[in-house]
Amino acid sequence: MYADLHTHTRASDGALMPQQLVDAAANCDIGLLAITDHDTIAGYEQITVVPESLHLVGGIELSTSWQGIGIHIVGLNIDLASDAILDAIACQGQARRQRAEKIAAVLERFGLECPLQGAQGLASDGNVGRPHFARYMVDSGFVRSESEAFRKYLGAGKPGDIKNCWASLEAVIDWIRSSSGTAVLAHPAKYGLTRSRLHNLVAAFASAGGQALEVVSGSQLPAQARDFANLAITHGLSMSCGSDFHQPGQPWARLGHFGALPAGMRAVWENW
Ligand code: MN
Ligand code: MN
Ligand code: MN
Repeated sequence: MYADLHTHTRASDGALMPQQLVDAAANCDIGLLAITDHDTIAGYEQITVVPESLHLVGGIELSTSWQGIGIHIVGLNIDLASDAILDAIACQGQARRQRAEKIAAVLERFGLECPLQGAQGLASDGNVGRPHFARYMVDSGFVRSESEAFRKYLGAGKPGDIKNCWASLEAVIDWIRSSSGTAVLAHPAKYGLTRSRLHNLVAAFASAGGQALEVVSGSQLPAQARDFANLAITHGLSMSCGSDFHQPGQPWARLGHFGALPAGMRAVWENW
C-alpha cells in the first residue's frame, strides 16, 4: 500500500479537479491519500465518490513564516468540520487578500490599470497570488511574458515582492492540533537552509507542538530521506511522505511516486 499525504487540486494551485485526483490516486495503487491544498479545504466538498481501495484523510497546507522565511506546515487527518480549521482558513484568506491589495497598489503606481480586479478575475478560488498578477500583466499588454513580469516587478527583491503576514508557526500548529490533526513540517529540502538552520527550524517546530517531518517528498533527492529521518528521530517526530503533486507531467512530483520511508521508522499514520 502506498501513502501520498501531500497533493494539490484545482481548489488551490493544482491542475486536477478533486475527484480526478482521487480517481488518479486509486489508479496508482495509493491506499492512503490526503489532499493538502494551500490554505483551503474546499476540494473535499467536490468529491462525490471515494473508491473502496482508498482511505482519504482530511488535509491542508498552511503557510507561515519563521525567521523571515516562508515555511509550509501540512495538517493531516484533520476534522474538516472543526471550528479551528475554519478559523485558520479565514485568517489565512485575510492575510492573502491584504498581500494582494499591497501588490496591486505597487503595480498601480507603475501604471497598470485595475490590477486587483484583473488578477482576481484570473484566480478561480479568489486566492490571488503573484502568478495571477503576472498573467494579468501579460493579458493587458503591460509586459510580454510572465517571466518578464517577475523579472521586472514581482520577483525576489522587486517592488511587487510583498511578504505575506502569515500567522505564526505556533498559531498554525495550534489550529491543526485543535482540529484533531497532526502537524507536519513540509518538504524540508525546499527552504534552501543550511544544515544548522534546518536543525534550528525543526527544533522550533517540535517545541511549538509540531508532530511529524515530511521525510520523503517528491521534490527532493531520494538520498536526503535518510538525513531527514535522522533529524526526525533527534527531535522526536514521526515521519510523513508525499509527492507534492500539482499537475500531471511534473517530473519531480508524480502522484504516489517517490521513495519509501526509511525502514523501521514511525510513520505519521500509526496513531490515526
Ligand atoms: Mn503549490
Ligand atoms: Mn509547499
Ligand atoms: Mn504543497
